[in-house]
Amino acid sequence: MPNACRFCGATNRQITNEHIWPDWLRDYLPAVRQPGHSERWSSAAGRDRWRQPILTAKVRVVCDGCNNGWMSQLEEAAKPIVGPMVVGQAVELDATAQQIVANWVALKGLVAVHTSNVEQPIPEPHYRRVHAFEGAPPNTMRVWIGRRWNLTDPNRPSRAQLFESHFMPVTNVFPGFPLPPDLERYRSEGGVFNATVFRVGHFFALALQHDWPGLRARPKLGSAAADALLPIWPAGRTIQWPPPRPVEDLGDPHKVTRFLQLAPPLAPVSGP
Ligand SMILES: [Zn+2]
Repeated sequence: MPNACRFCGATNRQITNEHIWPDWLRDYLPAVRQPGHSERWSSAAGRDRWRQPILTAKVRVVCDGCNNGWMSQLEEAAKPIVGPMVVGQAVELDATAQQIVANWVALKGLVAVHTSNVEQPIPEPHYRRVHAFEGAPPNTMRVWIGRRWNLTDPNRPSRAQLFESHFMPVTNVFPGFPLPPDLERYRSEGGVFNATVFRVGHFFALALQHDWPGLRARPKLGSAAADALLPIWPAGRTIQWPPPRPVEDLGDPHKVTRFLQLAPPLAPVSGP
């Protein structure tokens, strides 16, 4: 179904050629002609990296109804909250702000994946859930944010690298990913974990999406990630961004999921 909207599944609407990143980012980023850097995994192709001028990158995957409706509202809501983080300004995020940021991260991560021509590996239901909730699904997505300290392009030190995005089907490509037995069973029965990671300016986001409602996930206690990643979804108590450590302390952003600790959902408490 090449003409179906990736999010709502509609086949009777115009699929528009849309910018991945919103125009409002121009207000927060200096000269944005520099190429960004994207990479992703697929089980068949392995690690795939490319550079492109990301602010101008377009994809044809979303219908005009989605684009002009919930997605546009989400961009409006995100701009005043994400914008300051993009330029590295300290902010306080209450539960409402956390939800807005998480919704934006959920959307942008799934759209950015489409910059690659490699076959789309994220299952259809993951897009449908984000559409259904108009953002981050409550039980099948976790979102963390952090701060990128240094904007210098590691490969071209005289220039800044303002964008970066990564995608990985976590358990497919990290055979060493330490999975408890219950999770190994989930995976062997076809369960998936997808991670989308991206950076825009100083803002860094990691979203983990799965099919196991209530799955617990957190950065390993005592690891650098525990001090570099702030949980924002499900939303909780008010937090201060940036966290104490920059995400550079986590090394290769493509391997950031190795810092996550996963555990099956807690058994429901019975009785009154
Ligand atoms: Zn749509």
